[in-house]
Amino acid sequence: MKIACFSTKPYDEKFLSAAAENFSHEMVFLEHRLDASTVVLVDGCDAVCAFVNDTLDASVLEKLSEFGIGLLAMRCAGINNVDLDAAAKFGVRVVRVPRYSPYAVAEHTVGLILTLNRKIHKAYNRVRENNFSIDGFLGFDLHGRTFGVIGTGAIGRVLARIMNGFGCRVLLYDPYPNEEAKQLGEYVALERLLAESDLVSLQCPLTPETHHLINADRLSKMKRGAMLVNTSRGGLVDTSAAIEGLKSGQLGGFALDVYEEESGVFFEDLSQEVMQDDVLSRLMTFPNVLITSHQAFFTREALETIAQTTLQSIDAFSRGEELVNEVVATPS
Ligand code: NAD
Repeated sequence: MKIACFSTKPYDEKFLSAAAENFSHEMVFLEHRLDASTVVLVDGCDAVCAFVNDTLDASVLEKLSEFGIGLLAMRCAGINNVDLDAAAKFGVRVVRVPRYSPYAVAEHTVGLILTLNRKIHKAYNRVRENNFSIDGFLGFDLHGRTFGVIGTGAIGRVLARIMNGFGCRVLLYDPYPNEEAKQLGEYVALERLLAESDLVSLQCPLTPETHHLINADRLSKMKRGAMLVNTSRGGLVDTSAAIEGLKSGQLGGFALDVYEEESGVFFEDLSQEVMQDDVLSRLMTFPNVLITSHQAFFTREALETIAQTTLQSIDAFSRGEELVNEVVATPS
């Protein structure tokens, strides 16, 4: 099969090409994001491989179907950018990589927390300028703090285990509690988690129900001065509300690897351009905000597994075999 791989950077090409050596499929690597203006590039291909900021709405899926694309292989876990109803309607089957490395994301989450709390990013710059003062870098012990995990799936559980290691009291919230997680913390109602946690971390998918899960109302219910961490999907947080929370001091810190309007910005080098997103610009001005550009997944182990699983799904599709990582729309 010939596969059009969108939004590919050199690192994607490297890992996907290596995985493809074990299969007889041709990969076409495209730097473009997939959307209505680029969908024509799939002409002559049999399958499409896409990523988190590609647009897979009804109009794009209809076009994919018209071009004869039977499979959409998402090389990620969260597929909130795919209209699954439309995919079913237009006969495009969808697979994803449900598990690659929960450690990659959980460990990056901890990295953000430590960096923001202990100001390691600022210390790095200060020392490079021969300034060895530590004034302004005062942090707090994680030991003994209450850590709230919203979403106790694969990543949430790894994170809860790590935070236990720091000596945190771990509170958990998930509408679908998990037996394993019960050993790692106490399941409580969301309101209680927000009220009691010194740090709150989001590890749940973006769905219509979780969109702006953290909004002005929920922020007001958080412990004053608590830190919010989002390494899941930007749409989970109402960014404007978070900015107001930061301005008032209600929110004591905000670490994020994802942003609701990240498409077209994250993963790109815009250093020579004028930033057009005023919300993101404002966010970047706060001393107690730390932003990374959707890199929590970005470890060697994760990229190897993503590439391998993606190629296995494509190969299974080409052979008419069962697609173990297929996702279908849940009936409403
Ligand atoms: P998972 O499916 O194993 O777990 C998700 C958990 O969220 C489940 O237990 C589910 O019950 C729970 N959940 C659903 N609705 C909820 C709600 N309203 N409130 C609280 N919890 C809810 O997924 P995972 O592998 O742990 O990944 C979690 C998310 O992390 C993904 O959906 C994805 O968006 C994000 N992610 C980000 C990166 C990154 O690079 N930043 C990489 C991988 C995954």
